[in-house]
Amino acid sequence: MNSLSQRAHSLSRAPRRWLKKAASRVFFRHVFPRVAARRDIFERFVKETPDRIMIFPSNLCNALCSFCAYPTNKDPKQSMPNEIAFKAVDDLIAMGGKTINFTPNLGDPLVDPLLGDKLAYAKSKGIEKTYFFTNGILLDRDGLIEKISPHLDLMRISLPGLDRDNYIAVFKVDKAEKVTRGIIKLCEYKRRHGNPRRVTLELRIDRPRDEVFQDDGMKRLAPYIEDGTLEIGEIYEEFDTWGGVIGETDLSGTMKMREIVSDREVPCGRLFENPGILPDGHVRACSCFYVGTNYDKLTLEKVTDRPLSEILYGDQHREIIADWMKGDLPTPCHKCTYYEQMRYPIAEQLAMTAAVLRKERKKSSLRSGEFDAPLRPSTENMRAGSR
Ligand code: SF4
Ligand code: SF4
Repeated sequence: MNSLSQRAHSLSRAPRRWLKKAASRVFFRHVFPRVAARRDIFERFVKETPDRIMIFPSNLCNALCSFCAYPTNKDPKQSMPNEIAFKAVDDLIAMGGKTINFTPNLGDPLVDPLLGDKLAYAKSKGIEKTYFFTNGILLDRDGLIEKISPHLDLMRISLPGLDRDNYIAVFKVDKAEKVTRGIIKLCEYKRRHGNPRRVTLELRIDRPRDEVFQDDGMKRLAPYIEDGTLEIGEIYEEFDTWGGVIGETDLSGTMKMREIVSDREVPCGRLFENPGILPDGHVRACSCFYVGTNYDKLTLEKVTDRPLSEILYGDQHREIIADWMKGDLPTPCHKCTYYEQMRYPIAEQLAMTAAVLRKERKKSSLRSGEFDAPLRPSTENMRAGSR
């Protein structure tokens, strides 16, 4: 394609993109609220098995990272009893789910002394992938690696590098040496036993990358990186606001805040992608962030009271969507930098529109007495009446 035809092609794509965007805006403004208002249509078109759930083994942490809102959290600190985790695993399996991320949105999973039992149960029931993020501070604890590793597919260790002063500046605790020791212990175990299947270093840095790899601790890890025992995961240099709690002044060195998208008229797609189970069994619609507490509008019913399949996409979950479209967003969502507009292909938008119109036409025919036959309550009406 020459440059002239390339230009013509991209110009012809621009109106198409604009049209698609405008159609989607109309759909979310005028049709989607009506989808969210009708349980049957909502369940038919929107409900899906989540790709993964998060289980929060504990909400207690042993670090105070500068870029994290953990120090501002006021919830009572607790570890998840095994029965709650087992129920969540069973429910996810019944829904066809295959992946569990054992990471809390505050706290470190290794703090839970029963983490190994939870991982073992998930694997024994057929969960295909188990993983979590940890700061690794407790990895050198006696017997811990042996207990968790055989049931773990991926451990993602977050760290700012392994220089003592820098670790204190970013993670706010004097643990660089302890973390280095723990990671080496894990690597030696992995070399002998082959598990966890993968271990990654997730760098949260406030310095140039080259400098980080010159830290004493990082040099001690180099042989394990070279032979593939350790992998380098994602390197973060930009950070979230945690609903507006974290700002530029909390960050050090070269760290930056992520940009906030201001237009959030359409609900966030992650309201359906990232559910989590709090240590007391409450289901959180999105596990990303909280402001002060995890007990806000994003937190739904308890997995010990109802099956997960009824809580997710259930009435409370639908209400969050309906309220969002009236401008009433959950507290953490106002300034969250991970907001991602919900999207549906045009064909699905049209199918949902047709379903809503069919339903509304039927209802208005019934109201105008078009049908002579006596009305029998539908299952949906019966269920609605029983609430
Ligand atoms: S980022 Fe993780 S390790 Fe750091 S304080 Fe927050 S919960 Fe703890
Ligand atoms: S805006 Fe942020 S906190 Fe809210 S649902 Fe989306 S990702 Fe989760």
